[in-house]
Amino acid sequence: MNHKILTGDRPTGPLHLGHYVGSLKNRIELQNHYSQTILIADLQGLTDNSHNPEKVSSNILNVLADYLAVGICPTKTTICLQSALPALSELTMFYANLVSVSRLERNPTVKAEIASKEFGSSIPVGFFSYPISQAADITAFDATLVPVGDDQLPMIEITNEIVRKLNNIAQKTILTQAKPLLSDTPRLPGVDGKAKMSKSLGNVITFGSSDDFIVKAVRAMYTDPNHLRVDDPGQVEGNVVFTYLDAFHEDKAFITQLKNHYAAGGLGDTKLKGILADCLINLITPIRAKRALFLADRGELIAILKSGTELANQQTQTVAQRVKSAFGLNLF
Ligand code: ATP
Ligand code: MG
Repeated sequence: MNHKILTGDRPTGPLHLGHYVGSLKNRIELQNHYSQTILIADLQGLTDNSHNPEKVSSNILNVLADYLAVGICPTKTTICLQSALPALSELTMFYANLVSVSRLERNPTVKAEIASKEFGSSIPVGFFSYPISQAADITAFDATLVPVGDDQLPMIEITNEIVRKLNNIAQKTILTQAKPLLSDTPRLPGVDGKAKMSKSLGNVITFGSSDDFIVKAVRAMYTDPNHLRVDDPGQVEGNVVFTYLDAFHEDKAFITQLKNHYAAGGLGDTKLKGILADCLINLITPIRAKRALFLADRGELIAILKSGTELANQQTQTVAQRVKSAFGLNLF
């Protein structure tokens, strides 16, 4: 199938290792085979940061530099900025009529995020309804495949419900449904062992992290609390260090050997953590250097984003026109 791909990230901080294994690695590969668009979702970033908009605006170019540094190529992938694409906001308004409040309330990701953000009784409408704007993002590019972490599965479900409702209203196919593409590591835990590495939770290793920071973060990682002496048999399952080794180490046979050794006893946490720290430092060092080079040329970054956004504007306006016509609102 000739897929169209849409993915995106909130510019609420520089990108981290969870992005890398959850979605970026897939995108680097997919851009060679399909038409791919990546959206820097600044409007979505504002939904829980309106009190601190600078957190969003100051990270747009950081995220773009991260993309380029990991190997997203702007001649293969269209990289664009959400707030500069008015068709996305238009679509959001149309789709808001197709989704009930109770449907949004049932979204498990939004539910968990609301609980962790302590909005109290002041949940911003924009935050509560961001799955609708995400449906606008996905459909505005006629996406059929969305490479994401597993926290995004409920968003794609709502998107497809909107697509089916709209096609039903129009009595013909206006939009196509999208499928998620999960990676082998659909949810990387945080360095603190929490279920998800996430910018908002502050438990991340980014592409700008120093070697020293990486070593310290790995040293503080949770292993097996009962593995007190080197000779004790250790628990591999639920051991964050092994979860990371599975996600990042290229030599799978070596990791199997390590697991057997650890389970039998005789492999110490310090040695194990040293192997992980080296592995992460090897991955991040070249990316960190490229990232710094890209960030040094702000003009070039803005030019790349502007040209991707211009192309995206043409595509998304066509889709918005189709959606308007589905509601009979295309007089001119
Ligand atoms: P925020 O805390 O501001 O929501 P985030 O760290 O969750 O930031 P997003 O920009 O919301 O990052 O997510 C962008 C993409 O990266 C999504 O597809 C998401 O599923 C994926 N992703 C984010 N964190 C992880 C993770 N820890 N493991 C796997 N995929 C992830
Ligand atoms: Mg998120």
